[in-house]
Amino acid sequence: LGLPALPAQTPVRRRTRQIHVGDVPVGGGAPISVQTMTTTLTADVDATLRQIAEVTAAGCDIIRIAVPSQDDADALPAITAKSPIPVIADIHFQPRYVFQAIDAGCAGVRVNPGNIKKFDDKVGEIAKAAGAAGVAIRIGVNAGSLDPRLLAKYGSATPGALVESALWEASLFEEHGFTDLKIAVKHHDPLTVIAANRLLADACDYPLHLGVTEAGTAMQGAIKSAAAFAILLAEGIGDTIRVSISDHPVQQVKAGNHILSSLGLRPRKLEIVSCPGCGRLQVDIHRLAGQVEAAFDGFPHPLRVAVMGCVVNGPGESREADLGVSCGNGKGQIFVRGQVVRTVPESHVVEALLDEALRLTDEAPAP
Ligand code: SF4
Repeated sequence: LGLPALPAQTPVRRRTRQIHVGDVPVGGGAPISVQTMTTTLTADVDATLRQIAEVTAAGCDIIRIAVPSQDDADALPAITAKSPIPVIADIHFQPRYVFQAIDAGCAGVRVNPGNIKKFDDKVGEIAKAAGAAGVAIRIGVNAGSLDPRLLAKYGSATPGALVESALWEASLFEEHGFTDLKIAVKHHDPLTVIAANRLLADACDYPLHLGVTEAGTAMQGAIKSAAAFAILLAEGIGDTIRVSISDHPVQQVKAGNHILSSLGLRPRKLEIVSCPGCGRLQVDIHRLAGQVEAAFDGFPHPLRVAVMGCVVNGPGESREADLGVSCGNGKGQIFVRGQVVRTVPESHVVEALLDEALRLTDEAPAP
C-alpha cells in the first residue's frame, strides 16, 4: 500500500521547571515518578513503615502520608528516618503540622494554602521554612474541596474553576518568593482532568501531578486513570502520577507502572501477552494467565511471556515473546526465544515457564 513505516514513538515531554522531592527529581525532563498514599494509621509507625516497604518493592518512587492529628505529626521523624523513599506529608488545615513535617525531614508537604490563609495566615512562614529546608510543596486542588468562592463563580468544579483555584494558591507562595511547587488538579471525571491539566500546562511551567481522584474500584478506576493519563502523557503533560483506586496501595503503584510502561515512559518489567479466549480454547486461559502472572511477580529481569489458549495464534505470539506457551490437548508447548524447547502436561506449564525463565536469565547480569 506504500504506507510510511512509522516507528512507535514515546511522547515528547512538556518543558517544566524541575523540583526535587528528596532525591527524586520531578519535572524538567526527569522520569515520571509513581506515587501513592499509605492507608495505615500514620501514628502506627511500624505498620506505616511496613506498607512503605511493600509499595517501594512494587516500584513506588514517592510516598504520601496523611497527617490529620497531633499523634500523626509526632510519628513523622520515626517514619522519615527509616523510609527508603521520600515522604510527603499531606496536611489540610493545621499549619503547625507543616512546620513539624519540615523539621521531621519530610521531603515534601501537600497543603491547601487557601485553607491556611483563611484560618491562620502562615503561608509566608511556611514558604520560608520550606525554602530553608529544601522541601517541595504540592498544591492539590480537588473537585470535592474547591474553594466556595470559585464554586459560586463557575457553578461547579469545572476545569476553569480547578485551574483558577490552583493558580491562585500557587500565587500565595509566589508572593513570598517560593516556587518549588508542583500542582495537581483532580476530579473524578477523566474528561475534566484532561481539560484542566491542558489549561494548567498552558498557564504555568510547574511540574504537574496527574490524578483522577476517587476513581473507583480496581478495574473502573484503573481504566479511568489510564484513559486520562494516556491522553495527557501523549501530549507531554504530567510529571508524576497517582492511580487513586479503591484498592491496596501496592495495586495503585502497579497500575501506575503499567500505564507508564505501556506508553514507553518506564522500562517494562514483566509483560504477559495472554489471549482473551474464544470457542477454540483448550485450556482455562484466565486461570493459567493469572497463575503465570502471580508466579512471575517480582521476577528481577524484564520478560515478555506469552500464554496462549490454542494453536491458531499460540505459536506465533509465543515465538515473538521471550518465553511462551501454546496450549492444546491438555498439554503446553513451551517456547524460549522462538524455539519449542519442550512439551509439558498442562499442570506443569507454570513450573516449566519459571524454570526456563531462570535458565534464560541465568546468564544475564542482575539488573
Ligand atoms: Fe481463541 Fe486461540 Fe486466539 Fe486464544 S489463541 S483467542 S483460544 S484463537
